[in-house]
Amino acid sequence: MSYNWCHGPNCHTIQTQSRVRGSGDNKVLRTIKIKEDSNYRTYERYSMFNYFCNQNCLMEYIRTHLQSIVAIAPRREALETPIKVVKEKDTNWRGDPYTTTRITTVDNA
Ligand SMILES: [Zn+2]
Repeated sequence: MSYNWCHGPNCHTIQTQSRVRGSGDNKVLRTIKIKEDSNYRTYERYSMFNYFCNQNCLMEYIRTHLQSIVAIAPRREALETPIKVVKEKDTNWRGDPYTTTRITTVDNA
């Protein structure tokens, strides 16, 4: 069975029973081991938790390595999505008129 060690930079300092290893006077707090057998970790949106034991460890990793992470795929220009903005007049449940703004994306493909 494959596993990963949690990548959280401070995972091994958090004081929980689940991190205690060793015996007698040789006890340590150890980084959480994550088994890749959990079904929910196979969903793309949760697959990050194959590498982090929780959201706190994930966010600490991002804070620690942010400059390196954004250097992988830097954004040097703004992205734009073509849209149409349509103002529409309508009436509410009392019959009072109001104007709404509706934004729809334009498919240029
Ligand atoms: Zn962790």
